[in-house]
Amino acid sequence: METRVAATSTPAELALAVDRAVELLRAGEVVALPTETVYGLAADATRPEAVVKIFEAKERPLFDPLIVHLPDQSWLGRIARHDDVMVLVEELTAAFWPGPLTLVLPRWSLVPDIVTSGLETVAVRMSAHPVFREVCRAFGKPLAAPSANRFGRISPTCAADVVKELGGRIPLVVDGGPTEHGVESTIVRVEPLLLTILRAGPVTREDLETFALSVSDSSSPLSSPQAPGQLKSHYAPRTPLILATPRTAAALALAAGKTLAPSTGVLAFRAAPKDASPFAAIEILSPTGDLREAAATLFAKLRRLDEAGLDLIIAEPVPETGLGVAIMDRLRKAAARE
Ligand code: AMP
Ligand code: MG
Repeated sequence: METRVAATSTPAELALAVDRAVELLRAGEVVALPTETVYGLAADATRPEAVVKIFEAKERPLFDPLIVHLPDQSWLGRIARHDDVMVLVEELTAAFWPGPLTLVLPRWSLVPDIVTSGLETVAVRMSAHPVFREVCRAFGKPLAAPSANRFGRISPTCAADVVKELGGRIPLVVDGGPTEHGVESTIVRVEPLLLTILRAGPVTREDLETFALSVSDSSSPLSSPQAPGQLKSHYAPRTPLILATPRTAAALALAAGKTLAPSTGVLAFRAAPKDASPFAAIEILSPTGDLREAAATLFAKLRRLDEAGLDLIIAEPVPETGLGVAIMDRLRKAAARE
């Protein structure tokens, strides 16, 4: 299958891209679209025979449920039940929608089993990306859309990276430029007075704490994950990755009587290692130490190191506050090898 890339730089290009995307979605096909977090692979959420194509293209196991993206807020009550958490949901959606917050709520039967992997809950959000919103509105129905990468791999943050992941497997990528946040949406389960963070993301624990009596965090790896984003290994580069400062890694290697792998790359937070000579490639997430910038560039830089033919990537830890929690979550999963 030929994968076309549709530009959206001019109003005419955008109109054409939206038309083609909607036409494909109506025909039960999949289309890659930009969101404010990462690129998503979208299909009609109400048609199992369309949704199954997402699983095929991504080689995603059927036990991994998808997020449903709504064209507008009026769809929420048709997809999810929120009668006993009405006020909390209204407050959260008023504050964060459209935006990178996914709510897990009991579902209505309009949502097919393949979308929720048979769970009685459904994950819903509304994207703030103008291109995604336009396509979803013009389509007029909810879209199921996980990240547009093959299962377990790094999420794509630009159209070229979608083509690397899914080229030849899908008919269309709509190019909306690099994504704003760069890490996947925050996922929270909503229960009366209680929010449980299932996946850390751009909306932070601190952001959520003003809305619920209690915010608990279960986004760290579990033996039986409730969200596959919680699988220990996920977002994985092909190159082995360790989480350590370059100095610590070098010191540990020395203590073990070894040198670092001959071709080692560094994913640094603010600055290159003082002694850069042992390293074949260095990427810096944010020279000013800005966690938003670091998150936005994380996957693209990780991908660049992964493509550099290295034997090892050393990723430097970032401060674990605010968005740093989501970044460290992705780096730990990139480091896990099981
Ligand atoms: P992706 O968009 O590829 O990052 O995948 C969507 C994420 O949403 C997955 O990690 C799912 O586990 C999570 N998710 C979707 N539906 C549910 C649900 N009903 N309960 C918990 N997590 C969910
Ligand atoms: Mg994903």
